Amino acid sequence: MRYSSCPELVARGKAPAPALSASGATPITTLPGVGPVLAEKLAARGLLTLQDLWLHLPRQYEDRTALVPIRSLQAGTAVQVEGRVEAVERGFRYRPMLRVALGDDSRATLVLRFFHFRAQQVAQFSPGVRVRAYGTPRPGQHGLEMVHPSYRILGDGKHALGDALDPVYPDIEGIGSANLRRLIGLALEHLPDAASLELLPADALTQLRLPGMREALLTLHRPPADADVGALQTGLHPAQRRLALEELLAHQLSLRRQRIAMQQQGARPLTGKGRLVERLRKQLPFKLTAAQQRVYAQVRDDLALPRPMLRLVQGDVGSGKTVVAAMAALLAVEEGRQAALMAPTELLAEQHLGNLRAWLEPLGVRVCWLAGKVTGKARVAALADVASGAAQVVVGTHALMQESVAFHDLALAIVDEQHRFGVHQRLALRDKGREGNGLPHQLVMTATPIPRTLAMSAYADLDVSAIDELPPGRTPVTTIALAAERRPELVERIRAACAEGRQAYWVCTLIDDSDEVVAQAAQSTFEALQLALPELRIGMVHGRQKAAEKQATMRGFKQNELDLLVATTVIEVGVDVPNASLMVIENAERLGLAQLHQLRGRVGRGSAASSCVLLYQAPLSAMARERLDTLRRTNDGFEIAEKDLQLRGPGELLGTRQTGLANFRLADLARDADLLPQVHALADRLLLESPDIAERIVMRWVGGAARYASA
Ligand code: ADP
Ligand code: MG
Repeated sequence: MRYSSCPELVARGKAPAPALSASGATPITTLPGVGPVLAEKLAARGLLTLQDLWLHLPRQYEDRTALVPIRSLQAGTAVQVEGRVEAVERGFRYRPMLRVALGDDSRATLVLRFFHFRAQQVAQFSPGVRVRAYGTPRPGQHGLEMVHPSYRILGDGKHALGDALDPVYPDIEGIGSANLRRLIGLALEHLPDAASLELLPADALTQLRLPGMREALLTLHRPPADADVGALQTGLHPAQRRLALEELLAHQLSLRRQRIAMQQQGARPLTGKGRLVERLRKQLPFKLTAAQQRVYAQVRDDLALPRPMLRLVQGDVGSGKTVVAAMAALLAVEEGRQAALMAPTELLAEQHLGNLRAWLEPLGVRVCWLAGKVTGKARVAALADVASGAAQVVVGTHALMQESVAFHDLALAIVDEQHRFGVHQRLALRDKGREGNGLPHQLVMTATPIPRTLAMSAYADLDVSAIDELPPGRTPVTTIALAAERRPELVERIRAACAEGRQAYWVCTLIDDSDEVVAQAAQSTFEALQLALPELRIGMVHGRQKAAEKQATMRGFKQNELDLLVATTVIEVGVDVPNASLMVIENAERLGLAQLHQLRGRVGRGSAASSCVLLYQAPLSAMARERLDTLRRTNDGFEIAEKDLQLRGPGELLGTRQTGLANFRLADLARDADLLPQVHALADRLLLESPDIAERIVMRWVGGAARYASA
């Protein structure tokens, strides 16, 4: 009942009272009517100070400057209407429901429908009462209806229309919207004058044609009647851009300062000549690509400095990140110190172990294995080797981070597929360095590339390298989308490919991806394929199997003892079987771009022409169609990442676990991406010229909130 009980609580147009002694840091509890209970509800949403209220910005605006006749309502367009109650119906059939029929002079009827309401509210709607309501009409059972519109009951006199756009604030649990408006109105009375509120350099604002802070806040909380509604609704109003700029800047500054703090802790440089690396390169059955050499050189330069490296290596699936990691590890080994490589799944970790053993043991380097399933005596022995330094390179899963694991002298922590780990986990490994040596160096690798602008924002605390070239001789994967009914054709295709000695994957996915349900789906697909293709050797891996069983099957597939592997997305990361050249992905319409691209990366690793078939259930949603089209069109991970950013937004792309990016109050990295160059330039400038202002900007937007994206 937000609108009904509070006509114009926020006085508009009226100049706010001069700033008393209040400042942005003044606690909300100083406002009249804010007792401990209310304060607690606000605090639960991170609102503690007046400034937090100033920055609690409307999520949308309602245009109450006009009335639309009910007859000319259009579904999907939010408007204000006025009419008399013609009928009221209260139902309880499936859940409580209140329906109010409104009629107006245009002799048409609109239904207002409520699912949550109080008895008092029902009583207001007696037939004949005049109601003004604001909402979005949608087709209902009996013509158009508005679900949970905001409304107010009118008396019989004349009622002026609103003269402005009404801000609608993000809800706060337990606080009515009228009360919230009142609080924000009160807080705005204490808004300081423009000069003391401003933190951005005047010339930057002029150049970008953006308003000052005070003007921007007032415009957003009390938009004048002539404000550009369209711009406000889409977040592109200069007042919104101005705040987005400052918010992005605050996050950038916060990350950069954390980076500086980390670097101040120092690290022991690794300055060996690279003898072991030279020997490895001579033994490798391939020549490094130019991109691999370049990235290795960057890593080597970082490691030679007396401060901890924190470098992210992005490289598309199959670009050859592992060998770069191995070379970095050798730089630690050459100095008599240790390196650790952590991978998110046992399957992948085991594969790394195989590669590293094959590459490093001929050089006399001891590679040790530590995963959850290493138990008993084997575990005791492994831990002893790690602690004594006999294990020069340690490969494993999360088990590496456990408290019982103590390294002799960890110089380099490598984390593969870092997006699969939380930042805390990465830090837990880093913290296993030796006392007095500063921090270990860190190398993190990911096959989920993110667009450059985004990388600079999300990872302002990391250096980023890209292996942007695939080893030669790979033939690009041909991707096709196929409706599920055409499965039989596919079976023939698999038969033909396997008859030529090739191998294939069949990936089962479901939207309800509880391990158990997916395992069942894999099981029935497995059985059906066995029936259809009796001449083939078919294996199956899924998350419900014992690790040993999974590994035995994987090994069989790798050694070409199996023709076809039915799998769940457990094979998404890292699995490397160059002879596999055909992949089928079921229910492809339900998977995200990044995941599909990762899966597809399992083929196209050898010299045979590979293909990937995306099986989908028709009909496709527009979004799903666009995803599948993108994959058909390109194999370029960076291009796919750009598209993913467009389709899904950065929060999901990066994963909220890793960055605070999803926590922006109003900035939106996809929408505001064009501001990023300015943000980066301003950050450079402020850190250099006015660190105190930088500090205030961070405090204003990020506050003391723990940022976990960094270090
Ligand atoms: P990713 O970057 O996806 O982790 P990998 O490190 O698993 O890629 O490498 C994929 C495959 O390519 C492996 O079989 C690896 O041995 C091989 N490889 C790596 N670098 C090269 C290269 N320069 N030339 C040929 N093959 C390479
Ligand atoms: Mg890899």
